[in-house]
Amino acid sequence: MSVRELVVLGTASQVPTRHRNHNGYLLRWDGEGLLFDPGEGTQRQMLRAGVAAHDLNRLCVTHFHGDHSLGLAGVIQRINLDRVPHPITAHYPASGQRFFDRLRYSTAYRETVRLTEHPVAADGVLATTPAYTLEARLLSHPVESFGYRLVEPDTRRMLPDRLAAHGIAGPDVGRLQRAGELGGVRLDEVSEVRRGQRFAFVMDTRLCDGVHALADGADLLVIESTFLDEDVRLATEHGHLTAGQAAEVATAAGVRHLVLTHFSQRYSDPSVFERQARDAGFTGELTVARDLMRVPVPKRR
Ligand SMILES: [Zn+2]
Repeated sequence: MSVRELVVLGTASQVPTRHRNHNGYLLRWDGEGLLFDPGEGTQRQMLRAGVAAHDLNRLCVTHFHGDHSLGLAGVIQRINLDRVPHPITAHYPASGQRFFDRLRYSTAYRETVRLTEHPVAADGVLATTPAYTLEARLLSHPVESFGYRLVEPDTRRMLPDRLAAHGIAGPDVGRLQRAGELGGVRLDEVSEVRRGQRFAFVMDTRLCDGVHALADGADLLVIESTFLDEDVRLATEHGHLTAGQAAEVATAAGVRHLVLTHFSQRYSDPSVFERQARDAGFTGELTVARDLMRVPVPKRR
């Protein structure tokens, strides 16, 4: 059984609170684990959430502010302590290489795992596997910030009744799939597009083209909403989004499940984020993230 779900490790911006750890998000995508923005305390949150170092394959950092990256030091050392048997790849803004170097080698430890550095210098595709394409897009924040998205390739689903109507059966089905045509019957006459699933991770940023491009058609969008709408001026000034802005992006992009997170400690009632997102017109599934919650990628339509 392939599992595709988000495990929320932390949801606080800037400073942790009694109920919210610094950022940290694990995406399980079939057999792989992608850890996004590990803030301070991520190693312990992983333990609490039942996530092992062995579950990690990629580390993806949007930018080098502490709430998104200070956990790298502990997580990388833990990966080595546990002698994770597979290689790990780290993605982060190339402009922050010196920060990554310091976090990777902040204290003494024995390196036992092959960790490949794959910094991001521009928009584009970072990796292609049979299960997904990983892309990055530049965001708009006081320090260089890149958002990420996973796009599963579209495939075709064969339609048994149409195959039968054309008298195609057995090994001929495979021949038709490979050749795209068999005895005058085209593949698109006997199959339909099975749309690949999409996951997007957007943080930290003010509104910009990258936000919309990342969110486009996402089944699951994790997006920062640091501020409430009444503080939109503060949000724009500091390079952040409000709940209403995040919801408008999600609506325009046709997002199915919207996860709001990265909340400022100045607000005490999380339900206001939900209300403002609804007031902004978002009608899909909506989650105001809490630490240690799990959010499944929505089932295919
Ligand atoms: Zn932040």
